Amino acid sequence: MSDYGVMDMELEIIRKTDLEVAVLIEEELKRQQNTIELIASENFTSKAVMAACGSVLTNKYAEGKPYKRFYNGCENVDKIEELAQIRAKKLFGAEHANVQPHSGAQANMAVFMYAVKPGDTVMGMDLSNGGHLSHGSPVNFSGLYFNIVSYGVNSQGEIDYDNVRELALKHRPKLIICGASNYSKIIDFKRFKEIADEVNAYLLADIAHIAALVATGYHPSPVPYADFVTTTTHKTLRGPRGGIILCKEKHALGIDKAVFPGVQGGPLEHIIAAKAIALKEALSPEFKQYANQIILNAKALAGSLINEGLDIVGGGTENHVMTLDLRKQNKTGKDVANVLELAGITANKNTVPNDPQSPFVTSGVRLGSPAVTTRGFKEIDMIETGKIIAEAVKISDTKEPAIVKELRKRSLELCKKYPLYTD
Ligand SMILES: *Cc1c(COP(=O)(O)O)cnc(C)c1O
Repeated sequence: MSDYGVMDMELEIIRKTDLEVAVLIEEELKRQQNTIELIASENFTSKAVMAACGSVLTNKYAEGKPYKRFYNGCENVDKIEELAQIRAKKLFGAEHANVQPHSGAQANMAVFMYAVKPGDTVMGMDLSNGGHLSHGSPVNFSGLYFNIVSYGVNSQGEIDYDNVRELALKHRPKLIICGASNYSKIIDFKRFKEIADEVNAYLLADIAHIAALVATGYHPSPVPYADFVTTTTHKTLRGPRGGIILCKEKHALGIDKAVFPGVQGGPLEHIIAAKAIALKEALSPEFKQYANQIILNAKALAGSLINEGLDIVGGGTENHVMTLDLRKQNKTGKDVANVLELAGITANKNTVPNDPQSPFVTSGVRLGSPAVTTRGFKEIDMIETGKIIAEAVKISDTKEPAIVKELRKRSLELCKKYPLYTD
């Protein structure tokens, strides 16, 4: 036994059956505790959310919808799933919620299944410009089975809405997707709706990254405009890994059928219970404060990096995410992400607009504030984090051991200031 509090019990149970896996989970717990997590799509769930993921609900088959199942014995999971639906609708002000998608990509797949047919034209943001694989990348089902027209961002990292409109008028898509995995500006969902209406297309808003900001009013909501809104539950929303689809009542039946039996089998009721808990947490006043702090922290990090002479795509951030542009320093995203890992900071390399490097090398690093904000980081800690990053950039090709060691120490100090999963 060590000092992980409730985690100890869970580890102890696993150790008895499988020491190899238990050791690796313990190592992962330590990694999460002792590194600064700046991957913009990650977060730390509450122990209640985690406990639900590990509950007896994993044993239950519940194909179908609450109170309309293909299996017996669903009286408890029916109520749990209904709670999750009610809370999702309340949090986002939506008419209908399907809480069964296993992931964000599966939520999007279900919308495709309902809204378009193979070969139809679909518009989405290009992956290298900040879009998601499931918005039409050639290596994804969306790019394989549909005629994809991609839009991008300008050199300031902003969507050019006039260009989106021109493309829509020219290609007449049946579905337009907005929302991104790496976009640091506010998205004008109303403008997207006007464009979609002009060409008689459905509008899908994928808020996987900004869900918490939308839920708390710190980012305009697409719910009044979009036919469908998809989200992950494990990013800013701080729930278990999974997805949710919100839609207008008129699409409810079709969307439900597209999820099951369209693209999924039995729902993961243990994850749905964890979603219900996360949604309850997200409805609390503390969560609103959390969402506000995410933005304050992102702005503090961007400010610190700029102060240190580094460039941020678009000159800053309006949400939780930003891309460090390393072209001026003549460094690569790959080298910087690797040296950051040695220095105790986890982040991912990312392309910048018009990146001269390949997607495997890149000239950028994506940084996000949701996870560190959960563990308690405030603006002052983000400023120190920015300074550590700036020092790491300088030695990204040489990786001088003495400096790496010094930076690792500074990262660890910040982590120790805000213990994670210790009680
Ligand atoms: C993360 C993300 C997804 C996919 O989520 P998974 O759960 O990994 O499938 C979909 N859309 C956007 C915009 C995302 O950022």
